Amino acid sequence: MSDPKALHHRALKAIDERREALYALSRAIHAKPEIAYQEREAAIRLTEFLEGAGFTVERSYREIETAYRGEARGRGPGPTVAILQEYDALPELGHACGHNLIAMMGVAASVGVRAVIDQLPGRVVAIGTPAEEGGGGKVALIRAGGFDDVDAAMMIHPTSGRSLAGRHSLASNRVMVEFRGKAAHAASQPDLGINALDGILQLFNNVNAMRQQLRPDARVHGIITAGGSAANVIPDYAAARFSIRALDRRYQQDVLRRFIACAEGAAVATGTQLQVTVNENAGYENMVFSTPIAERWAHHMRAQGVQVYEARDEERVGSTDMGNVMQVLPAIHPYIAISPEPIPGHSIAFREAVVGQEAHDNAIAAGKALALTAIDVLADPEILRKARSEFEERRARGVVKGRS
Ligand SMILES: [Zn+2]
Ligand SMILES: [Zn+2]
Repeated sequence: MSDPKALHHRALKAIDERREALYALSRAIHAKPEIAYQEREAAIRLTEFLEGAGFTVERSYREIETAYRGEARGRGPGPTVAILQEYDALPELGHACGHNLIAMMGVAASVGVRAVIDQLPGRVVAIGTPAEEGGGGKVALIRAGGFDDVDAAMMIHPTSGRSLAGRHSLASNRVMVEFRGKAAHAASQPDLGINALDGILQLFNNVNAMRQQLRPDARVHGIITAGGSAANVIPDYAAARFSIRALDRRYQQDVLRRFIACAEGAAVATGTQLQVTVNENAGYENMVFSTPIAERWAHHMRAQGVQVYEARDEERVGSTDMGNVMQVLPAIHPYIAISPEPIPGHSIAFREAVVGQEAHDNAIAAGKALALTAIDVLADPEILRKARSEFEERRARGVVKGRS
């Protein structure tokens, strides 16, 4: 094997040579936002890029239409390192989470490793994971065996303010709640109706009463998706969608049980029929990142002159299906700051920022660091050994689940 410095140098050169094409790829995805499981154009662009860089690509990986897997084998047996890409947008908001940059960073890192894979054991796989925003593409892929042969997985998410090697995320469930009643004229025969909307309103009141007795990390938030069609008709159907989250799955399940009790109470109080549907694919686990691998990424960022910070205890966090990956194998999900000033995620301002020059320059540096991290994991068995022993120790404590 040539020395690591020479491998690093060649990988970085391969990324630099494609810099303009990578920026164009990100901007093309940003310009054509596609929501969960409909990311058809993005998947075509990304797989064509990977093929152009020498990957053998399997489209519709594990029969998920917009998932894919690109593979490049090294010179002999060894570990499989997966570099993940996300490319779905938010309904109406477009790429307000910056997944166009996730896609670009993942492809950049993959291309970098590809350039030196003939000098390394094992293989690098670029996995396209659709529908992070609520559809649980990684959950579906894990269930379908899409990560069975993967030893370590890595991806990067954009943020603002400070770059982080890792941080936690909330375990979550998405829940649909439906109340069914009986329609009647709202003025002449209200006593003959059963008001389904009242079920929803009572549910929100019950949840608000419960909130004060929840741990500070718990989040229960929802919207009303159906609430009747005319003011003079008692609504016979009303529906709401909620997210239920907390820092660990055990407490999150406790909150979910209490939430369902709130809904049952609302149904009893209003005389409505209740149906609660918990979306299985959107049950996101909390992230527990691999410190030996995250340290490599932070090291390669600092070597480029980029500051990387530790996550604070009071870090504001959401949920991601990368948590599900981290529950079954060592993985990292660092955050690259696309701007020094804080910009809220899932906002129009963030959507504008993730298409800018500064965002792309910062992201490409993060993608380079990811390439070098993947090379280190393939080249130095000690890193994966440490990552595995940390993972096993966490599994013994019940912090992660492990493969079932
Ligand atoms: Zn998001
Ligand atoms: Zn995101």
